[in-house]
Amino acid sequence: SKELLSFAHLGDQVHRRTMKQVFEFNIMVVGESGLGKSTLLNTLFLTELYKDRDVPDIQENTPKTAQIEVRQVNMTEKGVKLRINIIDTPGFADPVNGDECLRSIVEYVDHQMDQYFHAETGFHRKRIQDTRVHCCLYFISPYGHGLKPLDIDMMKRLHNKVNIIPVIAKADTLTSTELKKLKQTVLQDIEAHDIQIYGFPDYDSDAEEETIEEDLDLRSTVPFAVIGCNDVVEIDGQSIRSRTYPWGIVEVDNPKHCDFTKLKKTISLHMQDLRTTTSEILYENYREEIMSSEEY
Ligand code: GDP
Ligand code: MG
Repeated sequence: SKELLSFAHLGDQVHRRTMKQVFEFNIMVVGESGLGKSTLLNTLFLTELYKDRDVPDIQENTPKTAQIEVRQVNMTEKGVKLRINIIDTPGFADPVNGDECLRSIVEYVDHQMDQYFHAETGFHRKRIQDTRVHCCLYFISPYGHGLKPLDIDMMKRLHNKVNIIPVIAKADTLTSTELKKLKQTVLQDIEAHDIQIYGFPDYDSDAEEETIEEDLDLRSTVPFAVIGCNDVVEIDGQSIRSRTYPWGIVEVDNPKHCDFTKLKKTISLHMQDLRTTTSEILYENYREEIMSSEEY
């Protein structure tokens, strides 16, 4: 079977005792409309399913997202059963429809916490399905100059509830200089507005130098510049996922072209940490809030 995300590190993260369980991971995309959210989800999780077949027309597979859509991908990696819920959300286009969109997204995230809370306090605690959102890829426009007011609003409404990993959308539309500048501005905006984004875990004191180096490299790449694929081309007998232009192709999986592989690596490497921070920090905060509220 094909490795979808190549979760080569998953086995190390999952304790043997829990091997029989299904390992659930829930990932969501959020951001302005038209930034390539649906396309990237397909690139991350679905296009590989077509690898040995003709890719129909990937663009035709991403109609405009009108409401929150959850799709499930099941796979087994090195004996670990993995169930990934992929949560696609409608993008916001302007402040008016934006507010409604934001609200429905926040509601969705809250609702999953709620469900977990009720399941946990109920009788069948052994088999709680975990639909809490472990990771939110937040899409930032390549056309703006940093975060927009709507982005700031949305990120602030989400950052106490979910791990946010910011990404620069449609990185193929930026020159290297523009990309560098935009990354800087976005990081400055995040800091200036006190937005909490996913902080990578501290590595073990006995971590190998190579691991530390790679981790530092991943950290310093945030926000990840991503490109969604719309084509698969054959080069020297290899299928290359790409975007095709009149003047050439940009390779999605080529780290010289964009940060897609680094984003993938970050997710697969830190999948367990994303789950742990969700349940031990974000969910705990939420639980405390409920428990201390008067209605409870
Ligand atoms: P969403 O509204 O954020 O879900 O965006 P879609 O995935 O529906 O994509 C909107 C349009 O942008 C489509 O025409 C895509 O082909 C195009 N698109 C998606 N990803 C990229 C990208 O990385 N670069 C460029 N230039 N266009 C993209
Ligand atoms: Mg969409």
